Amino acid sequence: MAETIVMKDSGLSVPDRPIIPFIEGDGIGPDIWAAAVRVFDAAVEKSYGTSRSIEWLEVPAGTKGYEQTGAWLPEKTKEAFRTYLVGIKGPLTTPVGGGFRSLNVTLRQELDLYVCLRPVKYYQGIPSPVKRPELVDMTVFRENTEDVYAGFETPQGSAETRELITYLEREFGWKIRQDSGVGIKPVSISATERLVRAAVKYALARRQKTVTLVHKGNIMKYTEGAFREWGYAVARREFPDQVVGWDDFEGEVPEGKVLVKDVIADAFLQQILTRPAEYDVIATLNLNGDYVSDALAAQVGGIGIAPGANINYETGLAIFEATHGTAPKYAGLDKVNPSSLILSGKMMFEYLGWDEAAQAVERGVSRAIAAGEVTYDLARLMDAAREVPTSGFADAIIRGM
Ligand code: NAP
Repeated sequence: MAETIVMKDSGLSVPDRPIIPFIEGDGIGPDIWAAAVRVFDAAVEKSYGTSRSIEWLEVPAGTKGYEQTGAWLPEKTKEAFRTYLVGIKGPLTTPVGGGFRSLNVTLRQELDLYVCLRPVKYYQGIPSPVKRPELVDMTVFRENTEDVYAGFETPQGSAETRELITYLEREFGWKIRQDSGVGIKPVSISATERLVRAAVKYALARRQKTVTLVHKGNIMKYTEGAFREWGYAVARREFPDQVVGWDDFEGEVPEGKVLVKDVIADAFLQQILTRPAEYDVIATLNLNGDYVSDALAAQVGGIGIAPGANINYETGLAIFEATHGTAPKYAGLDKVNPSSLILSGKMMFEYLGWDEAAQAVERGVSRAIAAGEVTYDLARLMDAAREVPTSGFADAIIRGM
């Protein structure tokens, strides 16, 4: 009988037949979901026979949500994620004039999914702009709730902006041009600590050697500089026997331990090109994380196939997702690449502790790409590739498991 995943003191408790809500998504969402769900079910069956399975529960959002309930993000959809804890979604159209920035941002904010998790690795055969893309194997922990990204902005010319500028000049002596728009950059101890804590735990659990705090603390001392200080402090305080190093560490990181270090964001963007092997897990603020995730994905030629997840490691709530948009011109053509959603499902299996199923997905995707059986987007860039439709790519992945 299907059951609910729950959070216990020791972590997630996952039954053998969990109920997992999914949002199919808009545009190409139905094409990629149809392919992905076949891959997921095949990976579970190949790994566990009939002893495990997933009961998929569709929940409406985007166009389907609006058509069925009159709401783009229906309350019952948010409630389903709160109840079942782990879910997965395709891309959603941002409704014009809907009163919110995007359905994705709304979901992250309302469910307090404070980590945007983006693993980046190279798949043999994918064209890349760098010489040694295989040296890139990193996981980015991007803070999801604060920073200039939090949306605390006032527009140029408005009464509130004039009032704010006048107040800041009067109370702080800050000279801000009268014709400015203004944004606020909050960075808190509590949000920094929960992000860095999650990154260190992740690195330790996966025997990764380093966690790097990426920041612009040389310029923004009380926000990004403080992120660095608070990040080091929480790692020292909460993992005293497992974390080594700090600024002056040299040599091999001992087995079972992790080195916490930091780097200025612009130097980091150079070093991922020149010395990518030195980085494993990255913990960074919201805006840096946005740039860094996409720069890394581009480096491995994977911008169209990069998976992602938004997670609250304290409540256990997690939504895995395709990172691309709805590509409406390809909707219903059985043409696009479903890898981003499929690899986010691989992340979901890892999160559930179903490592064999995760590895089956990984094997299938690697082999399909290495064999050159790929969708149009990769086929047009690869020599000797055979273009297959979305459904055919899923078939190739399942065969490759
Ligand atoms: P997009 O949907 O990502 O599409 C841009 C281009 O990227 C496509 O024309 C296609 O390139 C390529 N592409 C995207 N997904 C692909 C796939 N699975 N396989 C192969 N190629 C793929 O970006 P957009 O056109 O800027 O946005 C369209 C809508 O998506 C907007 O409403 C936006 O708000 C929404 N969006 C949603 C999310 C999300 O839900 N997470 C994220 C971003 C955007 P070619 O034309 O070169 O083939």
